[in-house]
Amino acid sequence: MATSEQNPAKVFLNTFNLTPADLLQISDLFIKEMEEGLSKDDHNSPVKMLVAYVHGLPTGKERGRYLALDLGGSNFRVLLITIEENGSITQLSEKFALYDDIMRTTQEVLFDKVAESVISFGEKYGIKETLPLGFTFSFPVQQHSINKGTLIRWTKGFSAEGAVGRDIMEMLQEALDRKGSKIAYLSALVNDTTGTLMAKAIEEKECFVGLILGTGTNACYLEKISNIPKYKSPPPNATHVLINTEWGAFGENGALDKFLTEMDAELDKAALHKKQQIFEKMISGKYMGELVRLCCQKMISIGILFKGQSTPKFDKIESFESSFVSQIEEGDKPDIKIITGILNQFDITPSEQDCQLVRDACVAVSTRAARLSVAGIIALVKKMNRIEGCTVAIDGTLFKKHPKLSGIMRQTLDEVLPGNKIRIVESEDGSGRGAAITAALASLP
Ligand code: BGC
Ligand code: MG
Repeated sequence: MATSEQNPAKVFLNTFNLTPADLLQISDLFIKEMEEGLSKDDHNSPVKMLVAYVHGLPTGKERGRYLALDLGGSNFRVLLITIEENGSITQLSEKFALYDDIMRTTQEVLFDKVAESVISFGEKYGIKETLPLGFTFSFPVQQHSINKGTLIRWTKGFSAEGAVGRDIMEMLQEALDRKGSKIAYLSALVNDTTGTLMAKAIEEKECFVGLILGTGTNACYLEKISNIPKYKSPPPNATHVLINTEWGAFGENGALDKFLTEMDAELDKAALHKKQQIFEKMISGKYMGELVRLCCQKMISIGILFKGQSTPKFDKIESFESSFVSQIEEGDKPDIKIITGILNQFDITPSEQDCQLVRDACVAVSTRAARLSVAGIIALVKKMNRIEGCTVAIDGTLFKKHPKLSGIMRQTLDEVLPGNKIRIVESEDGSGRGAAITAALASLP
């Protein structure tokens, strides 16, 4: 057996390793960015630290029927959520396909599609009245109140023209008006991280962080208003407010350069939003499969994978989905049948050793993602001074589908901060339910 110094694959994949010291350093860098982001409106950090205008966690007294929209992840969904008199929550939901061409046309086309989906959902479920609606809109938004906010920029696969700088709720209202629909009263605009936190906080005390590991990645947390110099006119009685960190943008000023690999640079060159969302590109589901593909391409080019031969299908950018990474990492040992099945779709007939190497690449990339997200969590929890007790609510397809992510996160947390009391829990359908809960909270007297 070759040692890691001699094994070129190991040497190469080791560039994805992050030691506990690296993670602490990243965590400290992130705390600095957060502080800068909170300092003033024209701050100097790519980490935006957006005030979410949610000034309290759910009380448990929220009741009623709400519509919720969830836009910006792997599915666009419409939900009808009822918080019953006894506090239990029931929901109906429908997924609607959002094709790339809609995500990248104009805001009118995009919001028309959103409006049409809500209207057809209302018809299907016989909704006659005007319901309050919570909109989970998973992009950076400069909020002005709980139901007003302008789009700062698109991320992930979206680029619909005419939306940046405009109020999200206004664009949705205009689209509903174009269709003459009165189905909804637009009452809360929330980021998916906010929704995730709120959905867990309604049932659990000490939940102060909402995290998304999905198509994109981001986190929000509960901050003291006295720590937010840039927040000039909070409501008189408020002491805390949720901050949407937009941590995906961490690294845009070069702060993470020394941790980037050749593959990260390569990925960025071909990305829709270049030089943006550096932390997100190292972590989230939109990019994980592509990073693995680029690792494989590298190993092909040095002749140690697939006998040095790629195929036209495997050469295609973004052809290797992150869901393959999840499948390949299933189980304790590589499942040759599954891995071969996936590679066959790319016209590749792998040897057993090839399968092992592809799995090694998946492990390298996903382990780094999990560990980086923990560096971020540690920063948030330290910032709040809550190492002694804090629940982190997580949602997102990557977190839910990847077989090893949550285990690696747990292990990393305990490795870097031994004895911590941080809990990591899934917030079931947080992005959808949380919007309704926030709408309910917004309508309490
Ligand atoms: C967006 C965030 C969002 C995250 C997860 C990022 O690309 O900028 O607003 O929370 O994706 O969906
Ligand atoms: Mg989502």
